[in-house]
Amino acid sequence: MRTCSEQAFFLRVINVKNDLIEKRLAEAKEELENLRNFPEEKLAGIIQEIGFKCELCGRCCTKEFNDYVFLLDRDVAIIKEIEEKGLVPAPYPEFCDQKGRFYGSGYALKTKADGTCVFLEAGRCKIYGKRPTICRVYPYMLHREADAKGAVAWRQLSGLNKHGSYYSKLGKAECKALAEETKDYEEAYLLQLIHFFEALKSHFRKKGLKHVQRTYDKRMRAFLNGKLEIEIFVYCGGGFESQLLKK
Ligand code: SF4
Repeated sequence: MRTCSEQAFFLRVINVKNDLIEKRLAEAKEELENLRNFPEEKLAGIIQEIGFKCELCGRCCTKEFNDYVFLLDRDVAIIKEIEEKGLVPAPYPEFCDQKGRFYGSGYALKTKADGTCVFLEAGRCKIYGKRPTICRVYPYMLHREADAKGAVAWRQLSGLNKHGSYYSKLGKAECKALAEETKDYEEAYLLQLIHFFEALKSHFRKKGLKHVQRTYDKRMRAFLNGKLEIEIFVYCGGGFESQLLKK
């Protein structure tokens, strides 16, 4: 699942310029091309080699283990049907306009006060049959990420050696299906991001808005300190939904 510490987040946002949307859009498109060029058989081979087996510890459904669970548009529709209050704007919205309104690429699953997912009950997922796409493919993933030393490389398994067991015998067909599903999720995620950047570009152009980093940093800091309620426009179903958020 996609994670990001608040500190890393600030380092990242401080380094960006005003043409941020364009830059992020180009990066996402490049990532999509890289992903499409990654051979599926190679991923299936890695999955087979790792032999991960879930031990039902339930840790992956907690904030402590996975900062947040990002939802694809298709998952949002299902979660809204099950429990309207089961989602929140994904943390770390990407942009902020000159009026102090934030913009984010999607929703995330809500967590309880103890940091566990709202759908986790007695260590089990109570919406298992309808769980979001990322919960189905987890812990597999296929995207490039920097390690603690900043070296960027492809990552295929989240939480290596921190949960589950390894070197189980997995069948070829099972690994192929897992690789296919994982690649499909990553592609859907990048497409959602690309559509978000494109919609935002057009929205900003039409309304005469721009991303202002200083406003972003100031308001985000006040929000994280619990001093400010912020408005976030969440990208969903091709448009933006306004949400008010308090820490
Ligand atoms: S929806 Fe289910 S599988 Fe996904 S994080 Fe919540 S409890 Fe875990």
